[in-house]
Amino acid sequence: MPAKIIDGKAIAASINEETKREVEIFRSKYGRAPALAVILVGDDPASQVYVRNKIRTCAEVGIRSEGIPMAADTPEAALLDKIAELNADDTIDGILVQSPVPETIDEARVIRAIDPAKDVDCFCESNVGKLLIGGERGLMPCTPFGVLELLRRSGVSCRGKDVVVIGRSNIVGKPMAALLMQKAPDADATVTVVHSATEHLAEHIARADIVIAAIGKPRFVKGAMLKKGAVVIDVGINRIFDEKTGKNRLVGDVDFDEALPVAGAITPVPGGVGPMTIAMLMRNAVTAANLRRRDADAAEKK
Ligand code: NDP
Repeated sequence: MPAKIIDGKAIAASINEETKREVEIFRSKYGRAPALAVILVGDDPASQVYVRNKIRTCAEVGIRSEGIPMAADTPEAALLDKIAELNADDTIDGILVQSPVPETIDEARVIRAIDPAKDVDCFCESNVGKLLIGGERGLMPCTPFGVLELLRRSGVSCRGKDVVVIGRSNIVGKPMAALLMQKAPDADATVTVVHSATEHLAEHIARADIVIAAIGKPRFVKGAMLKKGAVVIDVGINRIFDEKTGKNRLVGDVDFDEALPVAGAITPVPGGVGPMTIAMLMRNAVTAANLRRRDADAAEKK
């Protein structure tokens, strides 16, 4: 039997419906919508598409968005000034700087400049630290938390399972592993992280109950590498030239056609993890707004 297709688009749509209701509750309590500032430095076409999708989804769920385009030659100091202005603006709840920034700008410095309370990407040191320590969930890393929600809402339990995460980036692989290893009902997995220096990569993948591929290499994971019935989550987004159609198209890090007859369940690309990342960003914007209000109310009471 071919794998069950995990429909990220449908699951993201139901999360966005939940977010829409939370936005309404926030608005009725505080008289304004949660607000997200999205900075795009430069004119990278893929980044422009991502930013457009984020801003469109904000409109769909009722979040106020402020798109801030900046020229590719914007000096780092000007970007840091903009972030400082948004940090100080009480009507802005979340700040996102679309990655990658031009090479002339130090991305780590930019991440550090964002107020952790407004860090809706969950990239800054204190938010990553909170994630690792566990406990109350606040701002969550969008793609890894999207993967966790995809699994949970598809009825896939991670508890006690062998999960192999391929890739160790700060955006996907590392926070993914940190989330999966937590003692939590939707996690509790036994996690192995493999990367470009891993020896016997195929052996690790072959014993995985759940494979999460975040490598950035088109169709890297072959069907023959998977254990029969494995759940396969494909984070990869790779643009390739399709000789049949003469056009570019998106493929994942997993060879979908080969994996389909072997896997128990699999996410497609597009329509798998991608929509979940945006849905979790929306959720983070509302969480940031609520937590900021909670902190402000607590400070007022003192
Ligand atoms: P990075 O390039 O930052 O990281 C890639 C990781 O894969 C690195 O840890 C690297 O190892 C590892 N790797 C590379 N080659 C191999 C190999 N041959 N064997 C084993 N490991 C290897 O990528 P990201 O994590 O940012 O993104 C990964 C993919 O996910 C990309 O396609 C990206 O577009 C996509 N993505 C999708 C998102 C979504 O919303 N769906 C969001 C974010 C990313 P090493 O550390 O040793 O170099």
